[in-house]
Amino acid sequence: MYRYLLQKITVENLPADHVAWDLNRQGVPSPRNGRWYGNTIQRILLDETHLGMVISNKSAGDGHKVKRSKDSKDVIYFPREEWVIVENCHEAVKTEKEHAKVQMFFSRVITTTPKKRGSRIYPLSGLVKCARCGHTMVVRYRSDNKTIGQILPCWYKDKYGTKCSNSGGKSMIAQTFILGELALYEKELRLSTSGDIADNKSLVKEIDMTLTEISKLERKVTKVNELVEEEFYTMIEARQRKAEIKVALDSAETKLNLLQLKLDNSKEMTDIERLNIIDKFQVQITKGNLTDTELNELYKSIISHIVWNRKDDTYVIEVNFL
Ligand SMILES: [Zn+2]
Repeated sequence: MYRYLLQKITVENLPADHVAWDLNRQGVPSPRNGRWYGNTIQRILLDETHLGMVISNKSAGDGHKVKRSKDSKDVIYFPREEWVIVENCHEAVKTEKEHAKVQMFFSRVITTTPKKRGSRIYPLSGLVKCARCGHTMVVRYRSDNKTIGQILPCWYKDKYGTKCSNSGGKSMIAQTFILGELALYEKELRLSTSGDIADNKSLVKEIDMTLTEISKLERKVTKVNELVEEEFYTMIEARQRKAEIKVALDSAETKLNLLQLKLDNSKEMTDIERLNIIDKFQVQITKGNLTDTELNELYKSIISHIVWNRKDDTYVIEVNFL
């Protein structure tokens, strides 16, 4: 499970929320037998015990004991500087390098990306293509009314000096049109995926079983480590036992990767991903209060471009979804 999360987040670069959503969809329970959240994944991946370190002196007192006597002290948590960290106590699940990558990954999510300086970004910047000449049309606010976004008439002139004849118009017309088309597109996706989901059910079930098997094996490794601490096992016995488990774990993980690949390659998966992105888009857009740059990023998450054609009062707009 741990390697699976590491793979999804640091290698495939998937957002933690997305991975959580996918695990919930597959019915895989989280370590506390509940739902997965982005935070759960973040916490697990940042946990230093996976580095093969044993951390002690995190707290003092009797709070961790089941029975509490009257004179038991409350738990005191020590600051990180006072923890005793002993490295390489057991086989590391991740390398130092991977840990650094995980840390970097999550710090990137937490800190906001710096705003690009320079040209002003409008909601439809870079997204409107001219139907007649194929050039990208310029979007900006009307000079006399800063609340009205405008798509300017096509700027393109051919080598004979003939200006493209495509007219501009209010940006809101295109934006409203995108939302209308999106609703239709979403409906279409939902209809087409419902059939495929049935086809992939056995595949998903097999993935579930493999994931269960992996977490069982991972629990076995934890158990072996505990038995060493309790001195039921010698180090040699434990190493042998862990080697056996590792063989089973490796083969289960290979199986999982192959199944995952099968599922990723099926159409259903990509359509579900699209629907997931559309859901996020809808949530953000109905929330409102977005800056123009944020709106622009939001549109770019669902469409590659729109094709704009206007003659007098006739608009022909084509929306190209990703
Ligand atoms: Zn044009």
